[in-house]
Amino acid sequence: MQEKIQRGSFCVHELPDQRKNKPHQLPIYATSSFEFESIDQGIDIFTGKESGHLYSRYGNPTIEVVAEKIARLEGFGMDINPKAYLCSSGMSAISTLVMGVLSKGDKILSQGNLYGGTTELFVKILQRFGVDLVLTNLNDLAGVEAAIKADPAIKMIYMETPANPSLACVDLEAIATLAKQYNIYSAVDNTFCTPYLQQPFKYGFDFIVHSTTKYLNGHGNSIAGAIVGRDAELMHSKVWTALKLLGTNCNPWDAWLTNNGIKTLELRMDRHCANALAIAEFLEAHPKVIKVNYPGLESHPDHAIAKKQMKAFGGMLSFEVEGGVEAGKAFMNKIELCVLAPTLGDVDTLILHPASMSHLNIPREIRLKNGITDGLIRVSIGIENVEDLIADIGQAL
Ligand SMILES: *Cc1c(COP(=O)(O)O)cnc(C)c1O
Repeated sequence: MQEKIQRGSFCVHELPDQRKNKPHQLPIYATSSFEFESIDQGIDIFTGKESGHLYSRYGNPTIEVVAEKIARLEGFGMDINPKAYLCSSGMSAISTLVMGVLSKGDKILSQGNLYGGTTELFVKILQRFGVDLVLTNLNDLAGVEAAIKADPAIKMIYMETPANPSLACVDLEAIATLAKQYNIYSAVDNTFCTPYLQQPFKYGFDFIVHSTTKYLNGHGNSIAGAIVGRDAELMHSKVWTALKLLGTNCNPWDAWLTNNGIKTLELRMDRHCANALAIAEFLEAHPKVIKVNYPGLESHPDHAIAKKQMKAFGGMLSFEVEGGVEAGKAFMNKIELCVLAPTLGDVDTLILHPASMSHLNIPREIRLKNGITDGLIRVSIGIENVEDLIADIGQAL
């Protein structure tokens, strides 16, 4: 074959797309930009007259498929059309949402036991830009209403249920109802549950965020996040604009890994939940264990709330071993099968001793005030055979 151009030029240019029919699995579109067939098409896509891709920070076919799947899962079985965007991490989803919809002078009403990074973001970064945080007990509904009435600058309630590491739950329906009544945004971090166990849109929530790094991916091999909004128009005008300009978009590779993970979401979550309940019951009956925090146990203070809004009780639990910090460390060192790693939601069981790991630099009084006692162990229960997990935890105790 005689090429019309020199070899160097030939090397530089792409050959025509070889695709003849639809690939069975989602391809990874590793391209920063998309070509236009003509200048007119370029103008039409840029001005939004024709739908199309421009530049992968604005949108990318691999990423959009995964975002769409998460949006449909959050709205599954409901008569709504939510819109989702994927971000480079859970933190990037949270920061993009808040920067997209709030302004200087606005305040966020939230709870003291949020994911640590979220509280830090609100306090260390957003406060510098004039968005303040007001903390309250979100289960004290009269208190929540009084806080909203007292401060018209509160424009969003931001919450998590169940929360880390006490697994305290907040009533989604009650919070969404109050937010609607006072015309403020409601947002919830649904990372621990995934839309398989809990669908906050059912109760009227405006926004849902995820660290897809955890259960949605499930295999511990990607960092990504998602923002899902009930109002697609608002998502496009405010959230997408913030995402595009902050550059907090996900990349196609992490989106692709997340897509693979989601395929087995139901199977994994069923096993996580069944294993966690069996282990919670085993721990509750164990003489060396002072307390078990698992929303599926009748002894959990928020069991009724959890039962009302969760399909099953999730894969996260925490428990307190007798003997304080030393006993907690000794337990961690005796563990053989479970893995000491600071994440959650993976297929393997992960344990953490907050007093000597994640909360080592936090003063003891503050730690205790948030329910993180010296002997508290947090476990992300995996999908192993439960007999092996009970044997490992039992021998370590
Ligand atoms: C991990 C986590 C985050 C942060 O997500 P990254 O993907 O690590 O940025 C936010 N919320 C919850 C509940 C988490 O567990």
